[in-house]
Amino acid sequence: MSKIRTRFAPSPTGRMHVGNLRSALYEYLIAKHDGGEFMLRIEDTDQERFVEGAVDIIYRTMEKTGLIHDEGPDKDGGFGPYVQSERMKTGIYMEYAKQLVEKGEAYYCFCDKERLSSLKSEVVEGKEITVYDKHCLGLSKEEIEANLAAGKPFVIRQNIPNEGTTTFHDELYGDITVDNAELDDMILIKSDGYPTYNFANVVDDHTMNITHVVRGNEYLSSSPKYQRLYDAFGWESPVYIHLPLITDENHKKLSKRSGHSSFEDLIEQGFITEAIVNYIALLGWSPEDNREIFTLDELVKDFDYHRISKSPAVFDYTKLKWMNGEYIKAMDFDAFYEMAEPVLKEVLKKDFDLKKIAEMVKTRIEVFPDIKDHVDFFEELPEYDVAMYTHKKMKTDAVTSLEVLEELYPIFEALDDYSNDSLYKTLLEYVEKKGCKNGYAMWPVRTAVSGKQMTPAGATEIMEILGKEESLKRIKVGINKLKNA
Ligand code: GLU
Repeated sequence: MSKIRTRFAPSPTGRMHVGNLRSALYEYLIAKHDGGEFMLRIEDTDQERFVEGAVDIIYRTMEKTGLIHDEGPDKDGGFGPYVQSERMKTGIYMEYAKQLVEKGEAYYCFCDKERLSSLKSEVVEGKEITVYDKHCLGLSKEEIEANLAAGKPFVIRQNIPNEGTTTFHDELYGDITVDNAELDDMILIKSDGYPTYNFANVVDDHTMNITHVVRGNEYLSSSPKYQRLYDAFGWESPVYIHLPLITDENHKKLSKRSGHSSFEDLIEQGFITEAIVNYIALLGWSPEDNREIFTLDELVKDFDYHRISKSPAVFDYTKLKWMNGEYIKAMDFDAFYEMAEPVLKEVLKKDFDLKKIAEMVKTRIEVFPDIKDHVDFFEELPEYDVAMYTHKKMKTDAVTSLEVLEELYPIFEALDDYSNDSLYKTLLEYVEKKGCKNGYAMWPVRTAVSGKQMTPAGATEIMEILGKEESLKRIKVGINKLKNA
């Protein structure tokens, strides 16, 4: 068998949709699993949908996710150009379209807008499309020549017979056979000279020696037409893998409205790249065992495209968050701190030991913005209710807490070493003398210095961060609260 060659063929129309990233990832994995080649091709023939800067987004995303292409606009592998608008200038699409015209598989069409809009339209999959009536198929050679010589605008259409059927094969969906009468004579070359996606994808995948095509199943219904083009040229079609739709939790197509439909959205929401890639790999593919955490290299090793499922893949945001949390736990501290620091600095303006605080939260968050809720009390003591001093298991209430805080205040006031060790030792000495359980004293102290039910660290660790003056101030606030209760 020849070497596997796959391609990612994005259109530069904006952010990198999760569905596109999944196609890219699967293409990459299929190639790399077999020691094959992975190529990047920019599909920019639809000038109306072109978005400035979108090509940069593509490059940045590929690099960040580690989906490194072997060939592409920036890495010539002998199959270039790799940008369709540049390929067009070589005349390749027109040349192949003319071959089809000669074979009777395509024809020139000079119909103007008015005539086209007078044609019957049909609703196909919710979209209104005009079914072309093959009017220009009846033009004589002389009429065509005369029109071309007169510079009349034209398109080139695929000629699909009204009778018979066309069959094509997809790895997931099997053999699909459609009546030719259902297939419209789609445009191959537009009036601006650009090829349509429908034509360019066939010419390019063949001339670039692509062996496996992975794309969203929105292309499934057009694939019989592509198959007819392959057959007309006498080319072997690549292995097709049309991926199931990605839906949100409500089983609606994952769209911009969901707020997390693109790679950039997820990065902005505090997800880390490796977790996103890992999660996206599982949107339609699963390994033989129930394993869920994979590095990209591990995916390369284990990925088997025969295990891709055709049932819709639900984008489960909660699950992605869980997975991200697992990645954060496993991150080395320096890398973690690099990402945590800006978030910490958003809420903590005073002079704190941010590294120590970062250590406290590393195992407690799922996404980076979660950090804020865990640490904001350091900056300012929140308003809190005295009921928080009551803890059944610790056997504390407002009365016991007031007693403990009033006894501890002078002890902490006399202490100069506010390191966690020294504070902890001091607290234990107090507990021992009093003959109570640790929690009996720790609970009220932690409540007083944090004003929170849940904190990322214990009482004395918090006091170490706050320092002597602020700790004492907060304990005093607690004493006053309890007195007034
Ligand atoms: N340019 C197409 C898109 O972005 C690519 C589809 C394909 O992979 O063939 O949807």
